[in-house]
Amino acid sequence: MTKELEYCCICDEPTERAGRLDDSLYIDDDGPFCEECFVQLTEKKKQRDSFVELKNAFASDDADGFMHSLNIFVEMLGFKR
Ligand SMILES: [Zn+2]
Repeated sequence: MTKELEYCCICDEPTERAGRLDDSLYIDDDGPFCEECFVQLTEKKKQRDSFVELKNAFASDDADGFMHSLNIFVEMLGFKR
């Protein structure tokens, strides 16, 4: 029995995994991804999530939450203070 090859939906490289039930890398319903694209995407998603958090804290007039989120966001982007 041959294993069905699964290819990354971004770069078309084989993911080296064998399908959705075999630890394939998905984000919600997107995928499969190879490990490289997966890492890049999760980084982007983290940045986006913290940006959304930042916006929400700002909108809700939560100064502590805003500064907290801002610090996390700035750190994530790699700015040294
Ligand atoms: Zn890929």
